[in-house]
Amino acid sequence: MAYEVNNFDSTDVVNNDRDHVWHHLSHHKPFEKTGPMVIVKGEGMRVWDSKGNEYLDAVSGAVWTVNVGYGRAEIADVVRDQLVAMNYFAQTAGNVPAAQFSKKLIDKMPGLSRVYFSNSGSEANEKAFKIVRQIAHKKYGGKKTKILYRDRDYHGTTIATLSATGQFERRNHYGPFVPDFVEVPHCCEYRAQEEADKENYGVWAANQIEKVILAEGADTVGALCLEPITAGGGVIEAPEGYWARVQEICKKYDVLLHIDEVVCGLGRTGSWFGYQHYGIQPDIVTMAKGVASGYAAISCTVTTEEVFEMFKEDEDPRMGYFRDVSTFGGCTAGPAAALVNMEILENENLLENATEQGAYLLKRLRGLMEKHAIIGDVRGKGLLVGIELVKDRTTKEPVDESVITAVAGHCMANGVIIGRTNRSFREFNNTICLAPALIARNEDMDQLVEALDDAVGEVASKM
Ligand code: PMP
Repeated sequence: MAYEVNNFDSTDVVNNDRDHVWHHLSHHKPFEKTGPMVIVKGEGMRVWDSKGNEYLDAVSGAVWTVNVGYGRAEIADVVRDQLVAMNYFAQTAGNVPAAQFSKKLIDKMPGLSRVYFSNSGSEANEKAFKIVRQIAHKKYGGKKTKILYRDRDYHGTTIATLSATGQFERRNHYGPFVPDFVEVPHCCEYRAQEEADKENYGVWAANQIEKVILAEGADTVGALCLEPITAGGGVIEAPEGYWARVQEICKKYDVLLHIDEVVCGLGRTGSWFGYQHYGIQPDIVTMAKGVASGYAAISCTVTTEEVFEMFKEDEDPRMGYFRDVSTFGGCTAGPAAALVNMEILENENLLENATEQGAYLLKRLRGLMEKHAIIGDVRGKGLLVGIELVKDRTTKEPVDESVITAVAGHCMANGVIIGRTNRSFREFNNTICLAPALIARNEDMDQLVEALDDAVGEVASKM
């Protein structure tokens, strides 16, 4: 029978999924008993499973992606028309939506000028690493190949991007890693290092990066890759003073600043890009999830004209242009969807809404701290929020991972999907992550907070 959307037998779908689909980030053993969850419908901030259960999705497709919400026929319509007119040609040639989207995007990114298209956050970061490596060979005679990344940051799932990831449990089984990726310390004020200057923690934390550059040798370091706000590593915004100092250090040692906006990009934190809150000027910016809100696979590696110029011409043809391709970077569905996605963000004032609803959510969650002693910290920016659970507020001893599992399970049973940072980084698996769609309203945030209130209260009472 020909495939028809919305014409399926639920039992058949669940059985086929259980027998043949390998789910991401999942233990499969429980599926043998319960069957996998299959999502069959989405609308606004809500999704429905094959059993007819409705959920408020507080993490935009589990991994902070669907920024404009589900069921956007206006994106699907444009993508359909685009695919019929012209679906694919490699980016060795241009295409209409890629050209139009690049202009629209660059208008929001002063100081940057070139967009390189690929399909995933990992791939966008790989392209950035390759750009840095090629510059090292072209401009610095094979030196400056090192790329610094930060403890607790995540940059992707491929071997090179995992080599640049500071989340131990994600890397754990996949070594050996690519050489010349070097870790620098995190900047989580709530978990400030013992020896840190607590009065000037932001500057102190940035200075730790300088120490690593000096220890490695500034002439060997090509780039520093950072998330503007660490997302999956625990929702960590850098403290006051951090970014200005980071920018200073990069300039001083001729180190390219690469900001990974895969999560924060396209409005998530209330500005177009996370880095724009901090008055810095990156050399390379990567983005993926919110670019087309999951309506098509697309990612971008955006650079300054200065970086691009280095690849424009070269006497040595082997070293000249960027010798890289992404087959599906030539799919037109991505930029077509991304264009409409940006129009929606603008027309519906979703950046402003993310700021307002984020502030409302933070306020309500901080209110819960009076009630639940296991909430150690509530933090975030816009609609990117983390709740760190602890056994004791004074010692900040993290709760066991099973507590987060229980809270998430309780919320799910009450029709609310929340996120978590479990098994993701070296020391702490104790943070709940929230990243609802930017269309959230007070009522949605109330439902979310009530579900969390109930779940945390229930789980804490059994600890
Ligand atoms: N960078 C960051 C900050 C991410 O959070 C992610 C995905 N969670 C990635 C890169 C990798 O993106 P993708 O899964 O699309 O490869």
